[in-house]
Amino acid sequence: LTAAQQEVLQTIADRQIRFITLWFADVSGVLKGVSIAPGELEDAFKEGIGFDGSSIEGLTRIYESDMLLKPDAATFQELPWHQEERVARMFCDVLGPDGQPAFSDPRGVLERQIEKLAELGFHCQVHPEVEFYLLADVPKPNEEPVPLDRAGYFDHVSGGRSHDFRRKVVSVLEEMGISVEFSHHEGGPGQSEIDLRAVDALQAADNIITLKAVVEELAEREGIIATFMPKPFANAPGSGMHVHLSLFEGEENAFYSPSGQYQMSQTAQRFMAGILHHARGISAITNQHVNSYKRLWGGGEAPSYVCWGHNNRSALVRVPLYKPGKSSSARIEFRGMDSGANPYLALAVILAAGLSGITEKMVLPPETEDDVWGLTETERSALGIAALPTSLSSAVKLMSRSDLVAQTLGEEVFSYFERNKRAEWQEYRAQITPYELNRFLSPC
Ligand code: GLU
Ligand code: MG
Ligand code: MG
Repeated sequence: LTAAQQEVLQTIADRQIRFITLWFADVSGVLKGVSIAPGELEDAFKEGIGFDGSSIEGLTRIYESDMLLKPDAATFQELPWHQEERVARMFCDVLGPDGQPAFSDPRGVLERQIEKLAELGFHCQVHPEVEFYLLADVPKPNEEPVPLDRAGYFDHVSGGRSHDFRRKVVSVLEEMGISVEFSHHEGGPGQSEIDLRAVDALQAADNIITLKAVVEELAEREGIIATFMPKPFANAPGSGMHVHLSLFEGEENAFYSPSGQYQMSQTAQRFMAGILHHARGISAITNQHVNSYKRLWGGGEAPSYVCWGHNNRSALVRVPLYKPGKSSSARIEFRGMDSGANPYLALAVILAAGLSGITEKMVLPPETEDDVWGLTETERSALGIAALPTSLSSAVKLMSRSDLVAQTLGEEVFSYFERNKRAEWQEYRAQITPYELNRFLSPC
């Protein structure tokens, strides 16, 4: 056993932890877990724990359903909301029966992409901003959900329940070793945002999964509903999951250059060019649901067009102001992704796109200073500003043609994802919506 693994075993004994939950995500990003007794853990560290992967979305093909879970000791944390019996969790890598990494494990997809960055001497820091809605109750069929409050951006609601709720979530996250940079009420009624401190990409994805689990767990305990659905209300902003990204070479922020435009280095510019170049092809991954496209095309400060800007909130990529003299904070913000994304796959394709910009020495198009929604179609096309896909169907078509996505996800995840998303579209397309009944049932 490694020193870290031995330390985990020691902590379990010291704190008398009764259950270890082994966490992993399926291809859609849904958290899965299996509980084991502490006595099993040594074996799990050495060989992995066997489970039948065939019942997990996209994880295996039927004929190789015996999979192994191998816990990552670095992710050991107690789940503080379990009061009677002490419970801890670890994220796992999924292995095939031969002990080799399973190509269908989304966490493995991101790990492989991080290795590619490392081969070029980079590691990536990611600061996620996660938006979600709190609802008073489960919505009744065909009725609009009822938000927990009627407040707006940065509002302080005295005695407000969502304020208390965020405080509880933040405390639990901090207890689990996840630093929260800030949290506030977002623009929509009942909408919250929690921003996590920048960490390495793999840890950031693990943290996003943990944040969602904590929010859902605490909401359940409070008798309220939390949703990460990208666009629950037609007339309120959607829930984005913006990520601030920077590449480091050792201790140096490779995105910073005192002489560059907005202090952006050539590396930052090329990385951003790569993201813009592949933005349409990766949309199906960063915005994976039918509902995601209602956020992208529903206003509320979500991006609809492929462009970048300095402090321009209509842009897909924004270059935030750096704190003067603080080169470590040089970064770019990708605003496309929504809260329904699988963070492992989404970060993997964003990093791959950025990296392709660096290796292919892509040239960054000029900044868009205007509000792109205010331009006419002709003005936008004169400026070379493309639109993001308007539906899951067109996003999947674009993804199907993207070699970058195919290579990053690997054949298994890619083909599963494609099939799964086509099925989601077909199911959606077959619906007769309340809108259609209202609009077309009686002759107009
Ligand atoms: N809710 C917006 C979105 O869907 C973002 C608002 C903000 O700038 O934080 O992307
Ligand atoms: Mg926000
Ligand atoms: Mg943001």
